[in-house]
Amino acid sequence: MVHAGVGEVEDNFEDRGVHEGRHSREDTVFMSLALQEARQAALEDEVPIGAVLVLNGKVLARAHNRVEAQKDPTAHAEMLVIREAAAQQLGRWYLRDATLYVTLEPCAMCAGAVLVSRVLHTQLIQTCRSDEA
Ligand SMILES: [Zn+2]
Repeated sequence: MVHAGVGEVEDNFEDRGVHEGRHSREDTVFMSLALQEARQAALEDEVPIGAVLVLNGKVLARAHNRVEAQKDPTAHAEMLVIREAAAQQLGRWYLRDATLYVTLEPCAMCAGAVLVSRVLHTQLIQTCRSDEA
């Protein structure tokens, strides 16, 4: 459930375009990569969430949750791909025009990171939902 106080972030997040439904063939490939990452997280006893960040049809970064491994409460898949893409791949902080493929709707922290990094679209992957985020 949504906690009080995060509504504003989520409203902004919606405005940035969270897309569900219609997928292109390219989307399917990136979704499959994100699902592979989620499976890898499960194998490592992490919360099974995967993310892929794409710019101009190219994968900039892919990652899965590493909260347990890194003992870092912010090491969510989305945070890891945003950091990797910005610092390591693009050498700039903004990810304008990039698309984030993620296996579960981002939490408030990750939604905020999507906003400040100026990721253009977030593509949710339709899987069996759990309440764990
Ligand atoms: Zn998160």
